[in-house]
Amino acid sequence: MYELSICHLYPDLLNLYGDRGNIIALKMRCEWRGINVNVSNISLGDKFDAEAYDIIFLGGGQDYEQEMIQDDLLNEKGEEIRNAVKNDKVFLAICGGYQLLGSYYKTWDGKEIHFLNALNLWTIGGKERMIGNFVFECDFLKNDNYDGKIVGFENHSGRTYLGQGVKPLGKIIKGYGNNGEDGFEGAIYKNVYCSYSHGSLLPKNPALADHLISIALKQKYKDFVSLSPTKDEFETLAHDSMIKRIIG
Ligand code: GLN
Repeated sequence: MYELSICHLYPDLLNLYGDRGNIIALKMRCEWRGINVNVSNISLGDKFDAEAYDIIFLGGGQDYEQEMIQDDLLNEKGEEIRNAVKNDKVFLAICGGYQLLGSYYKTWDGKEIHFLNALNLWTIGGKERMIGNFVFECDFLKNDNYDGKIVGFENHSGRTYLGQGVKPLGKIIKGYGNNGEDGFEGAIYKNVYCSYSHGSLLPKNPALADHLISIALKQKYKDFVSLSPTKDEFETLAHDSMIKRIIG
């Protein structure tokens, strides 16, 4: 029987707008298929051994929480996270957690917060926040039955820019995404997936949730081929009705 271990990093500090919903979606979608899931919460001062996990999750946090965890993140867990990224570990990082994986964040009021430098990207704060429901499209999810559209909710002042080697997660159809300028949203580097979309990301976009589960299972089990289908009545209803509301 397959089994996955998920690590929620700083769940008490990085969990904006129900980001934990992404973990619940991963867990439920695995359990519906008879795949066991363990979730571990690792926060300030806890020992972090990336090898013990198959998926590592970082949620969003305001500038205040990002500063609060900076020391623990850089000095206690940084090396472990950078190595895990290099070694193809599956990550999902949302908003503030996405920014943390980059090299730095210059806040809108001029503070420079050094981050992990695990991914070649950086964030610069602007006065105006980018808030709202948004839609983007992911080429890697497109198939005969799915147009690759993802619906989410964003709320950030940081504008993120991707350096060489990092690909965007998707193209913006409506909303701001990474910086409101270049038309891209999120980032992909090796098996690290980053998005500005908060807690409703995986619950409302089951194709993306299944993609992450599949790459984690492929990494762990050489005989894994594909996930069995699920009904997804509610997920599809939530996804389709939001897309309709946002782009008509
Ligand atoms: N502090 C970051 C910003 O405002 C992230 C906020 C968030 O995670 N929603 O850009």
